[in-house]
Amino acid sequence: MLSQVFLFFSSLIFSLFLPRLPLATLPRLRVMDGQLAPFPSPQPIDKHLVAQLLLLRTIWNASFLFALIPLVLGFLILQSQPTALVFGLFIGAGWAILSRLIPTVAFAVPNTPYATDLIHQINELRVAEASCCTKPELAWEVAAVRCRNCYSTHLSHARPDLGRVRTDGWLGRLRLLLLDGHPIVTQSNEK
Ligand SMILES: [Zn+2]
Repeated sequence: MLSQVFLFFSSLIFSLFLPRLPLATLPRLRVMDGQLAPFPSPQPIDKHLVAQLLLLRTIWNASFLFALIPLVLGFLILQSQPTALVFGLFIGAGWAILSRLIPTVAFAVPNTPYATDLIHQINELRVAEASCCTKPELAWEVAAVRCRNCYSTHLSHARPDLGRVRTDGWLGRLRLLLLDGHPIVTQSNEK
């Protein structure tokens, strides 16, 4: 009985986090270096950032497949062999898909941290000449895009994970798996 419970939970956790693995690993490989500022410093709004956001968006979307495979396989095997392991796979994969479909803020479907709107806004900030001060230097800080020279806020949107190599060890990786690329802080309302 205990071993069945263990099998169920381990396969549940496996298929729940499997779709989040590509984002947690792929952009952080040496060959994928997007020429961004080192983690965790503010990232300047430049063409490298926009390219990286588009890449992360693709990886995030493609990793839906990693949830579909255990879902379909689990469903097929469950028809003939209803075991705890397969049931765990099935539930975990279903949970992974739901967590990405159900919107948390602003009713954006799917619930992606790399929405097209956001990438457009960042690109517009990049193209437009900021007029906050004489020497505008826009950078994406943890909670908002701000000018590093005069500290005025240009976009109050918390920074999602940018796929940079993290220096906060296993805790950072765990946080990444749990948050699925979403920022840890919620949007700040100060303008
Ligand atoms: Zn400024």
